[in-house]
Amino acid sequence: MAFLDKLKAGLSKTKKAIFGQIDEVLKAFVKVDEDLLEELEELLIMSDIGVGAVEEIMEKLRDEVKSGRLKEKDQVTAALRGILEDMIGEGEELNLSTTPSVILVIGVNGAGKTTSIGKISNRLVSKGKKVVVAAADTFRAAAIDQLAVWCERSGADIVKQNEGSDPAAVVYDAIAYAKRKQADVLIIDTAGRLHNKVNLMNELAKINRVIDRELPDAARENLLVLDATTGQNAIIQAKEFRNAANITGLVLNKLDGTAKGGIAISIKSELGIPVKFIGVGEKIDDMQEFDNKEFVKALFE
Ligand code: GDP
Ligand code: MG
Repeated sequence: MAFLDKLKAGLSKTKKAIFGQIDEVLKAFVKVDEDLLEELEELLIMSDIGVGAVEEIMEKLRDEVKSGRLKEKDQVTAALRGILEDMIGEGEELNLSTTPSVILVIGVNGAGKTTSIGKISNRLVSKGKKVVVAAADTFRAAAIDQLAVWCERSGADIVKQNEGSDPAAVVYDAIAYAKRKQADVLIIDTAGRLHNKVNLMNELAKINRVIDRELPDAARENLLVLDATTGQNAIIQAKEFRNAANITGLVLNKLDGTAKGGIAISIKSELGIPVKFIGVGEKIDDMQEFDNKEFVKALFE
Protein backbone atom coordinates (compact mmCIF):
# COMPACT_ATOMS: atom_id res chain seq x y z
CA MET A 1 0.00 0.00 0.00
CA ALA A 2 1.24 3.48 -0.76
CA PHE A 3 2.01 5.85 2.09
CA LEU A 4 -1.07 8.01 1.63
CA ASP A 5 -3.36 4.98 1.49
CA LYS A 6 -1.87 3.68 4.74
CA LEU A 7 -2.40 7.06 6.34
CA LYS A 8 -5.98 7.16 5.11
CA ALA A 9 -6.67 3.65 6.35
CA GLY A 10 -5.10 4.53 9.70
CA LEU A 11 -7.21 7.64 10.06
CA SER A 12 -10.42 6.00 8.87
CA LYS A 13 -11.79 5.53 12.39
CA THR A 14 -11.19 9.15 13.35
CA LYS A 15 -12.62 10.21 10.03
CA LYS A 16 -15.76 8.16 10.50
CA ALA A 17 -16.27 9.21 14.10
CA ILE A 18 -15.93 12.92 13.50
CA PHE A 19 -15.53 14.22 10.04
CA GLY A 20 -17.87 11.69 8.50
CA GLN A 21 -20.58 13.01 10.85
CA ILE A 22 -20.20 16.61 9.87
CA ASP A 23 -22.41 16.19 6.83
CA GLU A 24 -25.12 14.73 9.06
CA VAL A 25 -24.92 17.71 11.38
CA LEU A 26 -25.10 20.12 8.46
CA LYS A 27 -28.16 18.38 7.08
CA ALA A 28 -30.07 19.06 10.28
CA PHE A 29 -29.70 22.83 9.96
CA VAL A 30 -30.87 25.41 7.50
CA LYS A 31 -28.25 28.07 8.06
CA VAL A 32 -25.02 28.68 9.91
CA ASP A 33 -26.13 29.74 13.35
CA GLU A 34 -25.11 29.25 16.96
CA ASP A 35 -27.10 26.00 17.20
CA LEU A 36 -25.20 24.51 14.31
CA LEU A 37 -21.87 25.60 15.80
CA GLU A 38 -22.77 24.06 19.15
CA GLU A 39 -23.65 20.77 17.53
CA LEU A 40 -20.36 20.82 15.69
CA GLU A 41 -18.50 21.60 18.89
CA GLU A 42 -20.07 18.61 20.57
CA LEU A 43 -18.94 16.37 17.76
CA LEU A 44 -15.35 17.63 18.02
CA ILE A 45 -15.34 17.31 21.81
CA MET A 46 -16.23 13.64 21.50
CA SER A 47 -13.20 13.07 19.33
CA ASP A 48 -9.63 12.82 20.50
CA ILE A 49 -8.68 16.32 19.42
CA GLY A 50 -8.49 17.62 22.96
CA VAL A 51 -10.71 20.18 24.64
CA GLY A 52 -8.27 23.09 24.41
CA ALA A 53 -7.82 22.61 20.69
CA VAL A 54 -11.56 22.29 20.12
CA GLU A 55 -12.07 25.64 21.87
CA GLU A 56 -9.49 27.17 19.58
CA ILE A 57 -11.18 25.72 16.50
CA MET A 58 -14.60 26.98 17.56
CA GLU A 59 -13.28 30.45 18.32
CA LYS A 60 -11.88 30.67 14.81
CA LEU A 61 -15.08 29.36 13.25
CA ARG A 62 -17.13 31.92 15.17
CA ASP A 63 -14.75 34.66 14.02
CA GLU A 64 -15.34 33.62 10.43
CA VAL A 65 -19.10 33.70 10.95
CA LYS A 66 -18.89 37.13 12.60
CA SER A 67 -16.74 38.57 9.88
CA GLY A 68 -19.21 37.38 7.27
CA ARG A 69 -16.75 35.05 5.55
CA LEU A 70 -18.76 32.02 6.59
CA LYS A 71 -22.42 32.37 5.64
CA GLU A 72 -23.56 29.25 3.87
CA LYS A 73 -23.73 25.74 5.26
CA ASP A 74 -21.69 24.34 2.43
CA GLN A 75 -18.78 26.60 3.41
CA VAL A 76 -18.49 25.03 6.86
CA THR A 77 -16.38 22.04 5.85
CA ALA A 78 -13.95 24.12 3.83
CA ALA A 79 -13.64 26.62 6.68
CA LEU A 80 -12.99 23.84 9.14
CA ARG A 81 -10.36 22.29 6.89
CA GLY A 82 -8.56 25.60 6.59
CA ILE A 83 -8.59 26.11 10.34
CA LEU A 84 -7.27 22.59 10.95
CA GLU A 85 -4.47 23.03 8.41
CA ASP A 86 -3.38 26.24 10.13
CA MET A 87 -3.56 24.66 13.57
CA ILE A 88 -1.60 21.59 12.58
CA GLY A 89 1.03 23.81 11.05
CA GLU A 90 3.26 23.19 8.10
CA GLY A 91 5.80 20.46 8.47
CA GLU A 92 9.31 21.71 9.04
CA GLU A 93 12.43 20.22 7.56
CA LEU A 94 15.23 18.97 9.74
CA ASN A 95 18.00 21.46 10.33
CA LEU A 96 21.04 19.57 9.08
CA SER A 97 23.10 22.59 8.18
CA THR A 98 26.42 21.51 9.68
CA THR A 99 28.72 18.52 9.17
CA PRO A 100 28.05 16.64 11.26
CA SER A 101 24.59 17.57 12.42
CA VAL A 102 23.13 15.79 15.42
CA ILE A 103 19.70 14.23 15.81
CA LEU A 104 18.97 13.10 19.36
CA VAL A 105 15.98 10.77 19.47
CA ILE A 106 14.05 10.54 22.72
CA GLY A 107 10.74 9.14 23.94
CA VAL A 108 9.25 6.43 26.13
CA ASN A 109 9.78 2.72 25.52
CA GLY A 110 7.86 1.34 22.60
CA ALA A 111 7.07 4.73 21.02
CA GLY A 112 9.07 3.71 17.97
CA LYS A 113 12.42 5.47 18.46
CA THR A 114 14.62 2.72 17.04
CA THR A 115 12.28 2.06 14.14
CA SER A 116 12.12 5.78 13.35
CA ILE A 117 15.91 6.00 13.37
CA GLY A 118 16.00 3.18 10.82
CA LYS A 119 13.49 4.98 8.61
CA ILE A 120 15.12 8.41 8.94
CA SER A 121 18.60 6.94 8.30
CA ASN A 122 17.29 5.29 5.20
CA ARG A 123 15.87 8.58 3.90
CA LEU A 124 19.13 10.40 4.57
CA VAL A 125 21.38 7.69 3.12
CA SER A 126 19.27 7.56 -0.02
CA LYS A 127 19.83 11.32 -0.39
CA GLY A 128 23.57 10.62 -0.36
CA LYS A 129 24.28 11.53 3.27
CA LYS A 130 26.77 9.66 5.40
CA VAL A 131 24.93 8.66 8.55
CA VAL A 132 26.36 7.42 11.86
CA VAL A 133 24.04 6.02 14.50
CA ALA A 134 24.94 5.87 18.20
CA ALA A 135 23.47 2.98 20.19
CA ALA A 136 23.00 4.95 23.39
CA ASP A 137 20.10 2.80 24.55
CA THR A 138 22.37 0.44 26.44
CA PHE A 139 19.67 -0.73 28.82
CA ARG A 140 19.01 -3.99 26.99
CA ALA A 141 21.26 -5.97 24.64
CA ALA A 142 18.27 -6.60 22.39
CA ALA A 143 17.87 -2.86 21.82
CA ILE A 144 21.44 -2.64 20.50
CA ASP A 145 20.89 -5.63 18.22
CA GLN A 146 17.64 -4.19 16.89
CA LEU A 147 19.36 -0.92 16.04
CA ALA A 148 22.21 -2.79 14.33
CA VAL A 149 19.68 -4.55 12.07
CA TRP A 150 18.13 -1.19 11.10
CA CYS A 151 21.58 0.25 10.37
CA GLU A 152 22.37 -2.66 8.10
CA ARG A 153 19.09 -2.14 6.23
CA SER A 154 19.55 1.58 5.85
CA GLY A 155 23.28 1.69 5.18
CA ALA A 156 24.22 3.72 8.26
CA ASP A 157 27.31 3.04 10.39
CA ILE A 158 26.66 2.08 13.98
CA VAL A 159 28.78 2.90 17.01
CA LYS A 160 27.97 0.68 19.97
CA GLN A 161 29.29 -0.71 23.22
CA ASN A 162 28.15 -3.51 25.46
CA GLU A 163 24.83 -3.67 27.25
CA GLY A 164 24.92 -1.66 30.46
CA SER A 165 27.69 0.69 29.36
CA ASP A 166 27.44 4.43 29.94
CA PRO A 167 25.19 5.96 27.24
CA ALA A 168 27.08 9.27 27.39
CA ALA A 169 30.32 7.36 26.70
CA VAL A 170 28.74 5.76 23.63
CA VAL A 171 27.76 9.23 22.44
CA TYR A 172 31.29 10.48 23.04
CA ASP A 173 32.71 7.61 20.95
CA ALA A 174 30.14 8.15 18.23
CA ILE A 175 30.95 11.85 17.96
CA ALA A 176 34.66 11.05 17.60
CA TYR A 177 33.83 8.45 14.94
CA ALA A 178 31.51 10.84 13.08
CA LYS A 179 34.20 13.53 13.03
CA ARG A 180 36.85 11.09 11.85
CA LYS A 181 34.64 9.75 9.06
CA GLN A 182 33.34 13.23 8.19
CA ALA A 183 29.79 12.00 8.57
CA ASP A 184 26.94 14.32 7.60
CA VAL A 185 24.53 13.27 10.33
CA LEU A 186 24.90 11.62 13.72
CA ILE A 187 21.68 10.07 15.04
CA ILE A 188 21.52 9.04 18.69
CA ASP A 189 19.16 6.34 19.95
CA THR A 190 18.32 6.57 23.64
CA ALA A 191 16.62 4.46 26.27
CA GLY A 192 12.96 5.13 26.99
CA ARG A 193 13.07 3.74 30.46
CA LEU A 194 15.77 3.51 33.07
CA HIS A 195 15.31 2.54 36.69
CA ASN A 196 13.13 5.58 37.14
CA LYS A 197 12.12 8.80 35.46
CA VAL A 198 14.67 10.97 37.27
CA ASN A 199 17.42 8.64 36.08
CA LEU A 200 16.18 8.88 32.54
CA MET A 201 16.02 12.66 32.53
CA ASN A 202 19.49 12.89 34.15
CA GLU A 203 20.86 10.56 31.51
CA LEU A 204 19.47 12.71 28.70
CA ALA A 205 20.92 15.82 30.30
CA LYS A 206 24.31 14.11 30.50
CA ILE A 207 24.16 13.12 26.83
CA ASN A 208 23.26 16.69 25.94
CA ARG A 209 26.25 18.01 27.86
CA VAL A 210 28.58 15.70 25.93
CA ILE A 211 27.17 16.90 22.60
CA ASP A 212 27.37 20.55 23.67
CA ARG A 213 30.98 20.11 24.69
CA GLU A 214 32.21 18.01 21.76
CA LEU A 215 30.17 19.59 18.98
CA PRO A 216 29.35 23.08 20.23
CA ASP A 217 28.53 24.48 16.79
CA ALA A 218 26.61 21.55 15.37
CA ALA A 219 23.06 21.93 14.07
CA ARG A 220 20.89 20.08 16.56
CA GLU A 221 17.57 18.33 16.38
CA ASN A 222 16.01 16.82 19.48
CA LEU A 223 13.21 14.67 18.14
CA LEU A 224 10.60 13.39 20.55
CA VAL A 225 8.98 10.19 19.30
CA LEU A 226 5.34 9.69 20.26
CA ASP A 227 2.94 6.81 19.82
CA ALA A 228 -0.28 8.24 18.39
CA THR A 229 -2.30 5.33 19.78
CA THR A 230 -1.77 6.71 23.28
CA GLY A 231 -3.83 9.80 22.39
CA GLN A 232 -3.74 12.67 24.87
CA ASN A 233 -1.24 10.73 26.98
CA ALA A 234 1.36 11.52 24.34
CA ILE A 235 0.95 15.20 25.17
CA ILE A 236 1.56 14.53 28.85
CA GLN A 237 4.74 12.63 27.93
CA ALA A 238 5.87 15.47 25.72
CA LYS A 239 5.51 17.94 28.57
CA GLU A 240 7.73 15.75 30.76
CA PHE A 241 10.43 15.33 28.15
CA ARG A 242 10.38 19.03 27.43
CA ASN A 243 11.90 19.56 30.86
CA ALA A 244 14.91 17.43 29.97
CA ALA A 245 15.59 18.57 26.44
CA ASN A 246 14.80 21.41 24.10
CA ILE A 247 12.57 19.46 21.74
CA THR A 248 12.83 20.73 18.17
CA GLY A 249 10.38 18.39 16.52
CA LEU A 250 7.98 15.51 16.97
CA VAL A 251 7.76 12.15 15.27
CA LEU A 252 4.22 10.86 15.46
CA ASN A 253 4.17 7.11 14.94
CA LYS A 254 1.58 4.38 14.52
CA LEU A 255 -0.93 6.53 12.71
CA ASP A 256 -1.72 3.35 10.77
CA GLY A 257 -3.32 1.64 13.71
CA THR A 258 -5.12 4.23 15.73
CA ALA A 259 -8.54 5.68 16.32
CA LYS A 260 -6.75 8.66 17.79
CA GLY A 261 -5.44 10.53 14.79
CA GLY A 262 -6.92 13.72 16.22
CA ILE A 263 -3.82 13.96 18.37
CA ALA A 264 -1.96 15.33 15.36
CA ILE A 265 -4.39 18.23 15.25
CA SER A 266 -3.93 19.43 18.80
CA ILE A 267 -0.29 18.64 19.39
CA LYS A 268 1.20 21.72 17.74
CA SER A 269 -1.15 24.13 19.43
CA GLU A 270 -0.72 22.43 22.79
CA LEU A 271 3.05 22.18 22.70
CA GLY A 272 4.19 24.70 20.12
CA ILE A 273 6.45 22.04 18.62
CA PRO A 274 6.11 21.07 14.96
CA VAL A 275 5.48 17.51 13.84
CA LYS A 276 8.36 16.70 11.51
CA PHE A 277 7.64 13.10 10.58
CA ILE A 278 4.75 10.69 10.76
CA GLY A 279 4.97 6.91 10.78
CA VAL A 280 2.34 4.61 9.36
CA GLY A 281 3.87 1.17 9.79
CA GLU A 282 6.84 -0.98 10.65
CA LYS A 283 8.57 -0.99 7.28
CA ILE A 284 11.50 1.14 6.25
CA ASP A 285 9.50 3.41 3.94
CA ASP A 286 6.52 3.78 6.27
CA MET A 287 7.55 7.30 7.22
CA GLN A 288 7.22 10.69 5.61
CA GLU A 289 7.81 14.32 6.32
CA PHE A 290 4.67 15.72 7.84
CA ASP A 291 2.42 17.55 5.40
CA ASN A 292 -0.52 19.32 7.07
CA LYS A 293 -2.58 19.64 3.89
CA GLU A 294 -2.16 15.97 3.05
CA PHE A 295 -3.08 15.04 6.60
CA VAL A 296 -6.29 17.06 6.64
CA LYS A 297 -7.13 15.71 3.20
CA ALA A 298 -6.79 12.17 4.53
CA LEU A 299 -9.16 13.07 7.37
CA PHE A 300 -11.90 14.39 5.10
CA GLU A 301 -11.69 12.58 1.80
P1 GDP B 1 11.41 2.19 20.95
O1 GDP B 1 11.29 1.40 22.20
O2 GDP B 1 10.92 3.60 21.14
O3 GDP B 1 12.76 2.16 20.32
O4 GDP B 1 10.37 1.55 19.90
P2 GDP B 1 10.64 0.54 18.70
O5 GDP B 1 11.24 1.27 17.55
O6 GDP B 1 11.36 -0.65 19.19
O7 GDP B 1 9.15 0.18 18.29
C1 GDP B 1 8.26 -0.47 19.16
C2 GDP B 1 7.27 -1.29 18.35
O8 GDP B 1 6.43 -0.42 17.59
C3 GDP B 1 7.94 -2.18 17.32
O9 GDP B 1 7.25 -3.41 17.29
C4 GDP B 1 7.79 -1.42 16.01
O10 GDP B 1 7.77 -2.29 14.91
C5 GDP B 1 6.45 -0.76 16.22
N1 GDP B 1 6.30 0.48 15.40
C6 GDP B 1 7.12 1.53 15.32
N2 GDP B 1 6.62 2.50 14.52
C7 GDP B 1 5.42 2.03 14.07
C8 GDP B 1 4.38 2.56 13.21
O11 GDP B 1 4.45 3.68 12.66
N3 GDP B 1 3.31 1.77 13.01
C9 GDP B 1 3.17 0.53 13.58
N4 GDP B 1 2.08 -0.16 13.34
N5 GDP B 1 4.10 0.03 14.39
C10 GDP B 1 5.21 0.75 14.64
MG1 MG C 1 14.51 1.34 21.00
